[in-house]
Amino acid sequence: MKGKSVTLQGVAASPGIGIGEVRVLNFDELRVSDRSVGAAEVGAEVARFEQALTEAARELGEIRACYAEDMGEASALILDAQLLLLSDPVMRESTIKVVRSELRSAAWAFRDVLAGARHHLESSENEYMRDRAADFLDVERRVLHHLLSRSSAGLRDLAGPSVLVAHDLPPSETVLMHPDKVLGFALETGGRTSHSVIVARSRGIPAVVGVHGALREVHDGDMLIVDGNDGVIEVNPDEATLHRYRQKLKDFQEFETRLEQNRDLPAVTLDGRRIQLLANIEVPEEAEGLRRRGAEGVGLFRTEFFYLNHASLPTEEEQYAAYSAVARAMAPDLVVIRTMDVGGDKVTSYMGASPEDNPFQGWRGIRYSLAHEDIFKTQLRAIYRASAHGELCIMIPMVTRIEEIERTRELCAEVRQELVGAGIPCSPDIKLGIMVETPAAVMIADHLAGVSDFFSIGTNDLLQYTLAVDRGNERTSHLYEPLDVAMLRSISRVVEEGHKRGIWISVCGEMSNDPLACVALAGLGVDKISTSPFGLPGIKSILRSISCAEARQWMEQALQLQTAAQVRQLLRAHLTQASEILRWA
Ligand code: PEP
Ligand code: MG
Repeated sequence: MKGKSVTLQGVAASPGIGIGEVRVLNFDELRVSDRSVGAAEVGAEVARFEQALTEAARELGEIRACYAEDMGEASALILDAQLLLLSDPVMRESTIKVVRSELRSAAWAFRDVLAGARHHLESSENEYMRDRAADFLDVERRVLHHLLSRSSAGLRDLAGPSVLVAHDLPPSETVLMHPDKVLGFALETGGRTSHSVIVARSRGIPAVVGVHGALREVHDGDMLIVDGNDGVIEVNPDEATLHRYRQKLKDFQEFETRLEQNRDLPAVTLDGRRIQLLANIEVPEEAEGLRRRGAEGVGLFRTEFFYLNHASLPTEEEQYAAYSAVARAMAPDLVVIRTMDVGGDKVTSYMGASPEDNPFQGWRGIRYSLAHEDIFKTQLRAIYRASAHGELCIMIPMVTRIEEIERTRELCAEVRQELVGAGIPCSPDIKLGIMVETPAAVMIADHLAGVSDFFSIGTNDLLQYTLAVDRGNERTSHLYEPLDVAMLRSISRVVEEGHKRGIWISVCGEMSNDPLACVALAGLGVDKISTSPFGLPGIKSILRSISCAEARQWMEQALQLQTAAQVRQLLRAHLTQASEILRWA
């Protein structure tokens, strides 16, 4: 008998529509009893623990190797945090100490040590940190399975194509997902930067996360629709709903196929103006799926994950491994690495910054870096070393004064000299550019262009500082409008000043996720657009359907209009043919 029909709302995480039979996966925490061991058994218990760590590392190493072969080395980095944890001497020693001194079973001691660290991450205010708790839980389960001699059921055992529902998906299971077996998935937990979401996007698997109560409402064998565009799941849909979604799936597939055909075509307007399309990434693992979406490089590699995701400062080696993996994955194309943009809403305890009244106007971005030159130089060294493996550029955030660029150039020269002196290979000429994301940078764009190799306009911050609208405040979100005339005039000025001095201008804020805004950017003369990889095919299609000369005329008119609504109306009126792209975007 068919189960009851329910619609549940979640967060759209990976686009597409998945329709199929449900397979519920249960990765519950394993029950561990508080068993004590006799003093004579301690040696054997410690040996069992060491053996479990070795087995777990071997298994994970095998999964990593398969995944690296399938998806590339940069993608496989997703599992390195876990391998690192498995070989962490502090975790190992702490567990053994509890076994020896408290005469507890290794399983109990290990769970105790790991759960403490995991709960700390889970209660973090930072979404990225919370998502990383999954690595701890995954390692915990894997080692406990060995210690408790339990077998685990997971994605390996999927019989046929299914739609998955779970509380969460451990990263090491996530990498086993293939679109031919997994038609889509819905998770109760998960954020936009969780591993499962990153893998789903790079493999084109529709996903909805944050679906509260999914496991209560959905059971094995139910029929399920996962709508990764609108963030909805339909459990046991009626015939009319099923019919509607089948049609939506067909439309989406046809749309994707048409976009795919554009993949290897350049983003050239009808009158021959070429605009380079680049991707924004937040973690190195994302690099591998970019070509599939037609990215011609990485225009913004945010590096905060290193600083926010660590209990201590990231080492040069860790950073070097990540930067060089991305450089290799994208070579010979451009990869713009943005130096640490900590501060603002991205503060970590070990940085020692006491709370500020106005953190977005405080110790943020390049201001923080220049106040901590040792930390900054470690990052610059890692980038310089990685530059031997691809075409890397350095970009500094939150610039308001010319001295910030000049001092960064001096530090770059020092770093390069040190490396060359030590015989370590690095590029002889890494381009140094800046984020233009403050009104000050807009106003002195002429001066800044004289000392920068490129500009990338960070519209997320430029909007909040120009329009005095907190980018995270829901009450004023209606004022957060990228097509506001004040913004368009700022962008126009930056492009003009940059071009006068012969440097290229990119836009890397969320504004470029909106195809309509991309037409505006083309009309304003930007050279590159960097955005979320998922929007790239749609943006390319729309750019290929317009004449840049026409867009320039539209924007000349737009710069004289008074409201963003008028600007949108003007652009829409000219873009009737592109309505399909605007619908899916
Ligand atoms: C921006 O400000 O537009 C930007 C791209 O940087 P972030 O969102 O990381 O501040
Ligand atoms: Mg910014």
